[in-house]
Amino acid sequence: MTQIHTGGCQCGAVRFRVSGDLKDSSICHCRMCQKAFGAFYAPLVSTRDAELQWTRGSVKHFRSSNHVLRGFCENCGTPLTYEAADGIAIATGAFDDPAAVPPIIQFGVERKLPFVDHLHELPVRQTMDDVEAAPFLADIISYQHPDHDTEAWPEGDRP
Ligand SMILES: [Zn+2]
Ligand SMILES: [Zn+2]
Repeated sequence: MTQIHTGGCQCGAVRFRVSGDLKDSSICHCRMCQKAFGAFYAPLVSTRDAELQWTRGSVKHFRSSNHVLRGFCENCGTPLTYEAADGIAIATGAFDDPAAVPPIIQFGVERKLPFVDHLHELPVRQTMDDVEAAPFLADIISYQHPDHDTEAWPEGDRP
């Protein structure tokens, strides 16, 4: 049975579907990936041995080097792709179910930020632990696209 993975950007203007077995999931600590994701490292899943379809919208590109394009949603800014001669990799967090594609290797470790290996030692809180300090959390309304395909998006009126 062919595995189907879906996902998209935060606003829902760009959606994708990958058919096939995704085994090549990684994180990259290189400085380019840190910048492109605005993050400590970039989680990416290669679609090399699978079939990638854009089911809604398309990504806009920034050429980050002579060999690599970075794709993102023009509307909301979500980083979505790393595109090189060996294929397209999709940002793991953009999948509807990121837990289905866990990383198996780390790249670019010469630029790994020194605290990354200690994140699990930090104090932890759930979102609603902070509701007294940040009362807006109690009636927050999400405009994020849901973690499944939709017929049309956005639904209804939005401020
Ligand atoms: Zn978007
Ligand atoms: Zn990288």
